[in-house]
Amino acid sequence: SGAASIIGGKFTAGQIRQEVALAVSALTSKGLRPPGLAVVLVGERKDSATYVRNKKLACEEAGIVSFGTDLPDTATQQQVIDAVKAFADDPNVDGILVQLPLPDGMDERAVLSAVPIEKDVDGFDPLNLGMLATRGTEPLFVPCTAAGCLELLQRYDVPIRGKVAAVVGRSNIVGTPTAMLLQNAGATVTVVHSQTPDAKAVCANADIVVAACGVPEMVRGDWIKPGAAVIDVGINAKDDPTKKRGYRLVGDVAFDEAKEVAGAITPVPGGVGPMTIAMLLKNTLDARMRSS
Ligand code: NDP
Repeated sequence: SGAASIIGGKFTAGQIRQEVALAVSALTSKGLRPPGLAVVLVGERKDSATYVRNKKLACEEAGIVSFGTDLPDTATQQQVIDAVKAFADDPNVDGILVQLPLPDGMDERAVLSAVPIEKDVDGFDPLNLGMLATRGTEPLFVPCTAAGCLELLQRYDVPIRGKVAAVVGRSNIVGTPTAMLLQNAGATVTVVHSQTPDAKAVCANADIVVAACGVPEMVRGDWIKPGAAVIDVGINAKDDPTKKRGYRLVGDVAFDEAKEVAGAITPVPGGVGPMTIAMLLKNTLDARMRSS
């Protein structure tokens, strides 16, 4: 018991960030322009501000130039779109990211559609998602969290082809693209969502479980097939009076139970979370390499 090996997202993300940094310095040492990433942040959400700060720091560390526009939550939708468009026209910007969620009342789709597809490093453009779902075509960018999940499975030598996978969650940004990536890699995939009659049975049949439902510790130990690989995307705050800040982070998987059954499992924190930023840097580098 307690046999699961840990899939170290922090370590792997560090490797990827180093690979990106090397590729960037190969560019700049030839006198070429470094990649640029622009982040548009609207409003004062603390979590969003933290994510944006972390993304900018990661960029700088990798030699990627970061640009940003911060708008108050009183900004109009047109002002947000104009901020995106300014970066769309900026030849030093290879990738544009609109930090979600946008303030209530703003049309996310309308704002995101101002990001040109060749700068859509988040991979949220319906055309990118459509190409991911179309056999024989490749998207320009894959959404970072989904790409991070696959990268972890691959770098930890978890077999995918011919295996059975369950993805819990069907959001556009995590569950659905992850399911498509797994299917493209040769897995037989079932997507579990809030209308699924027996989520436990679906998961218990799977060699690979990806949990991205946003329900703290929903996937229990007895949902896991012995030896399965478990990728926990969830990031949830759980009250914990023993911690100074009063809470701790837990995933969408009950880690202590699942690790007794699984063959390999990602921790929270230190699993998928760091991979998301690493894949964003990778997407930004890819965008730069494609531009002339
Ligand atoms: P969403 O809320 O957009 O989607 C959640 C999905 O889970 C929905 O498809 C929903 O079903 C499904 N779901 C909700 N409750 C249940 C349930 N009881 N049983 C089965 N399915 C359920 O979340 P996101 O996809 O944006 O994020 C998922 C999780 O991943 C969150 O914990 C989030 O914090 C985390 N996250 C982590 C990131 C990282 O970098 N590690 C990045 C992004 C997110 P339905 O469609 O029917 O409503």
